[in-house]
Order: sequence, then structure tokens, then C-alpha cells
Amino acid sequence: MVEEEANFTSAISAKTSSVEETRHLASLLKKVFQAGDVVVLSGDLGAGKTAFTQGLGVALGIEHPITSPTFTLANKYDGELTLNHLDVYRLEHFQEVEELGLSELIDSNSLTVIEWGDVISSVLTEGYLEISLSLGTSLDDRIIEFFLIGQQWLDREAELIALVSSFSMEIRG
Ligand code: ADP
Ligand code: MG
Repeated sequence: MVEEEANFTSAISAKTSSVEETRHLASLLKKVFQAGDVVVLSGDLGAGKTAFTQGLGVALGIEHPITSPTFTLANKYDGELTLNHLDVYRLEHFQEVEELGLSELIDSNSLTVIEWGDVISSVLTEGYLEISLSLGTSLDDRIIEFFLIGQQWLDREAELIALVSSFSMEIRG
């Protein structure tokens, strides 16, 4: 069982020491993303999920400032790729996800980034990239772990490792 799982997921971890570094890491990842991809961002309030999304947005040439979609379930931004930014933190958002169905929210022409997405990842039927952010030892340290779920992500493992290699990464599993 464990072996089967190991074939299907892989974890990579990185560390950043400032919000700028997290934004930079996110911008580097632009290369690995394509339309239709789903990225699940997990981590506590203040972990850096929105900061990560902002860094990615700048790299995609999105001029509109990215903020947490607090009063809407999803925001859409035009860039090199269209960014579909969801935040399912609020209870109403969970309900909307249930009512609308995730397939209505995930846009195959866009890159979909879901903050607090771990709470709905069990209903994601296709593969996705989970990026988990957590606090490190120093105030501005963040541990950023990547979980590649599904073959379409495992196929991009080497590319992902190369992109984050400057952030003191280690490989597991
Ligand atoms: P979330 O969306 O996960 O709730 P935010 O991105 O809104 O978190 O906020 C992260 C906060 O942590 C910001 O105030 C940011 O300046 C701060 N911060 C400090 N160090 C880092 C880091 N290494 N990476 C990301 N954010 C950091
Ligand atoms: Mg946020």
C-alpha cells in the first residue's frame, strides 16, 4: 500500500526567508504551469498563500493587484495564462463549492489556484499540485512543500525540482 502511494505522489521541500523570496519562488514556477492545472495551497492564516499567488501573478504579467477573494469565491485575472484564484476559507465558500460543484469552478482554460484547497482536495478527481506552506524557525522563514498528485504532475517532477533547486530543497519518497 505504502509502495503504491509512493508511486503516485512525491514530495519536494524548500525554504524561503522573506516574503520576497516566496514571491520569487512562485514566479519561477510559472514555467511549469499550464492551462487546466489545479494548484492547491494549504497552510494556516499568514502562511503566505496569497503572497505566493501574488508572485505568480506578477510573473504571468497580471497587472491587477491580486488580493484574497474574501467576498467572492473566485477572482479571474487575465495574463499569459488566465489565473482563476479561489479561496475556500469562509464557510459560505464551502457551501458554494458544494452547490456549484468543483467542475464548474475549475476552468480548463485557466490555471486554478485554490487557497485552503486542502479542505476540498478529496473531491478533486484529476491530479493536482499541492503546495503546503508552514512557519519555520525564524519569524520570516517558511517551509514550502510540494506534493505531486497524479501522473500529469509526476511527469513534471524533474522540471519542478530544477526550478526550486536554489531554495535548499530536499527530496523524499
Ligand atoms: P495567507 O494567504 O496564507 O493567509 P498571506 O500571504 O496573506 O498569508 O500573508 C503572509 C504574511 O506573512 C505576509 O504579511 C508576509 O509579509 C509575511 N511573511 C513573512 N515571511 C514570509 C515568507 N517567507 N513567505 C511568505 N510570507 C511571509
Ligand atoms: Mg490568503
